[in-house]
Amino acid sequence: MTLARQPAGALRDADAGKKVLLKGWVARRRDLGELIFLTLRDRSGLVQVVFDRARCPTAAVDAASDARSEDVVAIEGQVVPRAEGQRNRDLATGEIEVLASRLEFLARSETPPFTVEDRTNATEELRLEYRYLDLRRPVMQKNFVLRDEIAFRVRKVLHERGFLEVETPMLTRSTPEGARDFLVPSRVHRGQWYALPQSPQLFKQILMMSGFERYFQIARCFRDEDLRADRQFEFTQIDLELSFPTEEDVFDVVEAFLVEAFAAANIPVTRPFPRLTFREAMDRYGTDRPDLRYDLELCDLSAAAAGTGFAPFEKALGSGGTVRGLRVPGGAPFSRKRLDELTEKAREHGAGGLLWFKKAAGEVTSPAKKALTSPQLEGLLSRAGVEDGDLLLVVADKEKAAFAALAQLRAEAARELKLVDESRYAFCWVTEFPLLGFDEETRKWFPMNHPFTGPREEDLERLESDPGSVRARAYDVVVNGWELGSGSIRIHRGDLQERVFRVLGIGEAEGRERFGFLLEALKYGAPPHGGIALGLDRICAIAAGATSLRDVIAFPKTTSGIDLMTKAPAAVFPEQLRELGFEPPKPRER
Ligand code: ASP
Repeated sequence: MTLARQPAGALRDADAGKKVLLKGWVARRRDLGELIFLTLRDRSGLVQVVFDRARCPTAAVDAASDARSEDVVAIEGQVVPRAEGQRNRDLATGEIEVLASRLEFLARSETPPFTVEDRTNATEELRLEYRYLDLRRPVMQKNFVLRDEIAFRVRKVLHERGFLEVETPMLTRSTPEGARDFLVPSRVHRGQWYALPQSPQLFKQILMMSGFERYFQIARCFRDEDLRADRQFEFTQIDLELSFPTEEDVFDVVEAFLVEAFAAANIPVTRPFPRLTFREAMDRYGTDRPDLRYDLELCDLSAAAAGTGFAPFEKALGSGGTVRGLRVPGGAPFSRKRLDELTEKAREHGAGGLLWFKKAAGEVTSPAKKALTSPQLEGLLSRAGVEDGDLLLVVADKEKAAFAALAQLRAEAARELKLVDESRYAFCWVTEFPLLGFDEETRKWFPMNHPFTGPREEDLERLESDPGSVRARAYDVVVNGWELGSGSIRIHRGDLQERVFRVLGIGEAEGRERFGFLLEALKYGAPPHGGIALGLDRICAIAAGATSLRDVIAFPKTTSGIDLMTKAPAAVFPEQLRELGFEPPKPRER
């Protein structure tokens, strides 16, 4: 009777005595002459195989002495319990080993450029170049098992709630999400171009107008943006849209699948997630993606700073800015050097400078002490709630800079004071984002999200007169300082969409040219609709505890957009270019 292949990593004490056939890779070989140990690896895990001259057929032992790391082998043998003292608690199969009777090479391997083990000293470049070897490492395999489980659970929750998974095109027209498009030239229609989707945004809206009511897709999106440390040109979103929704309907379904997704990694998630408006988030944490694992809230010191005559305060307040503080409890011992570093950090985030006040043993120290009267000083400190032993960091600047700097310092201080509970996953919703932002350079309004986001009804009358004050029906879901996803209730009336385009400076002709199909569809009875998209890569990275998105994407690109394995992007044959109507570049002179 021929044996069926068994997963190596699943063998346990209870299998002792069984004859087994295993197939996989040689992870390690330890050759003691009369006794050879091979560790066999397959997707299920690792198991030790013993080749003992005294007990195993000679052919099998000879073959084992020739085996090398990453050879692919078939091994037959018998599961035997390990002797007391030989058990390996670090290995799931550590109670047993396999006494081999046969070894067959299915494929030989050259010496790999790095050892295929969880702990590797290979550089990431090398790992990406030999990605297939890197992906054999058990940690990486675990990440992809988790990713599969998460995607499966998300699909299940959405399917059970009546969402239809519908695919939308990759070769399409531009969908504005604020990034540059990847363009694909059309061979058939010379001079015409497809854009790869920055998101399925317009299609999912059209699907609502098509009567699908609930759509989702685990969708690939493409954005040609400057790759900051942890971004990819192409990434995967859990994208969904509902008809006739309120914000609460969106929150409900997202919370439901996030609970399931994180449960796959044994991470408990409690719902409902707390909510804060954009304004609250900025005022309290200086950012729209607050890390709520720790408190440390900012305070508004503008009133206490007004009229002090202190130049930095006067300057900031006089030019429409603000004075904001961060009380760091127990921060008085921060050294001068550390405060200089924090000042540098504040500057990096756009603030002109950083003021600090320390209170220790009843005594206040600060570079600004001399410039303030004691009641003024007292006013500031008491407004910030400073107690003995505390440090107060203050930024007087334009609101944007003050918030950006203090948000950064808040995170630094929390890390330094060990206030971050790494075992917590603090989710929240941030709502009521501004609809529009103003670009000082182009002197134009731009959509904070995308131009299809619905304004709040009560703010609509100010759309033309005070666009910056209009709040959107937009929301983000945030965890531990990461933005996991964003979405909105959309505009579903053509007249309002055209009004928003006008404020954005998208003229009628341009609007028709770029989004004519949407405006047309809005004419034929569009249901109110809204949705959201969440980054699946990020969810998986957080759930897996991975430090980089690249560890949960099978074939990622480097931060400069190169696929080191396939060497994409690459030159193409001149003939391919001519077919597309391009002249091949002239060969370079040698
Ligand atoms: N299309 C948006 C994005 O990709 C998400 C949404 O509004 O649903 O960020």
